[in-house]
Amino acid sequence: MSQTNAFQIYEYKTDLENYQMHKLNQLLVFVLQKNKFYQQKLGGIRLPIQSKKDWTKIPFTLKQELIDDQQAHPPYGQNHAYPIESYSRYHQTSGTSGRPLKVLDTIDSWNWWITCWKDVLHSSGVTHKDHVFFAFSFGPFIAFWGGFEAAKEIGAFVITGGSQSSKERITAILENNATVLLCTPSYAIHLAEVAKEMNIDLRESSIKKIITAGEPGASIPSVREQIESLWGAKLFDHVGMTETGAYGYSCKEQGGIHINESQFIAEIINPNTLEAAKPHEEGELVLTNLGRFGYPLIRYRTGDIVLNSPNKFQCESLYKFLPGGIIGRADDMVVIRGINIYPSSIEAIVREFSEISEFQINFYTKSDMDQIKVQYEVDTNDEATVNKALTTRLRERIGLRIDTETVKPNTLPRFSMKAKRIVDNRT
Ligand SMILES: [Zn+2]
Repeated sequence: MSQTNAFQIYEYKTDLENYQMHKLNQLLVFVLQKNKFYQQKLGGIRLPIQSKKDWTKIPFTLKQELIDDQQAHPPYGQNHAYPIESYSRYHQTSGTSGRPLKVLDTIDSWNWWITCWKDVLHSSGVTHKDHVFFAFSFGPFIAFWGGFEAAKEIGAFVITGGSQSSKERITAILENNATVLLCTPSYAIHLAEVAKEMNIDLRESSIKKIITAGEPGASIPSVREQIESLWGAKLFDHVGMTETGAYGYSCKEQGGIHINESQFIAEIINPNTLEAAKPHEEGELVLTNLGRFGYPLIRYRTGDIVLNSPNKFQCESLYKFLPGGIIGRADDMVVIRGINIYPSSIEAIVREFSEISEFQINFYTKSDMDQIKVQYEVDTNDEATVNKALTTRLRERIGLRIDTETVKPNTLPRFSMKAKRIVDNRT
């Protein structure tokens, strides 16, 4: 495969598109027979879908539609093809932006999740020889549940970290010679802070790989470097959503995310015009999951903002590559004095300072003007130099003045799941 030339890529692309169309039509035939939500939504479409032009006539699916459907048909809504007795897994979204969505899987559709997760593990080089530690609460959020079962199925030694304190988790990692850690990027940093308090140097632990999910982070170079240096381990990114499935992962070349195109059709659209994003343009990722018959999503607007790169990545994979992974969330974007800002771009800059342990981004209004202030905890004898460098870098790269302020150590909140570092008090 490393000898791939342009012709082979072309041939593969055609094959991949044919394969996706084949799976898509299978899914649509099934969905239109059995799924009331999509029967109502897609009633008029003609099958089979044969071309991109046919495809783009299919309406997008919005999260709000799924939530409204559950309110109209409680408790689970109508995006189901089977009687409830056929379902075996219940999960819900975190509800950070509204009411949580309840999502059910049959045994088959859950097995599809596990298949997707096996690809994540494979891409990170995890094998049956690994001891895999899950620093995760095992609550109703889907998070690492699929990863846990996939690791078990490939024969790895799996260790649960549910209901444990950070200290207990560090002890369990060391005692069980864990080689792979799964958690959020924020929590990987937090565990390193706690280890330092315990006088433990994690670079001497057996952890060789860390797979993170839940927040953009592992694909932001400054965050990745910080976590890799704290742990002496290689960091891999993974992206998935309760609604869609585990749709992407980074490879050993890092730097971003590949979409698993054998299981998903990915499109990137301009969220204003709803047309395909132009090459090199940022846009919203739209996904169709091809193998989750128990909970299908067709042209689902994920709200994830990504860069539409037309180029093949430097690695062997031929799947679509998203440089920098998820750049931001459409619903996190704020407009401050006419400039579109994703908090993750501020995070990327803050994380370039290894002296900064935790931070919070505050949006507020003063004298009718929207303002931003970054508060942070810093571990250095020279706060003034850090503050000056941070303020300068924020102004140069974000393009407007952002205030900065140090706060006392351990005063800002810490997070084990999705971090909430944004406080929006704008009027
Ligand atoms: Zn790659």
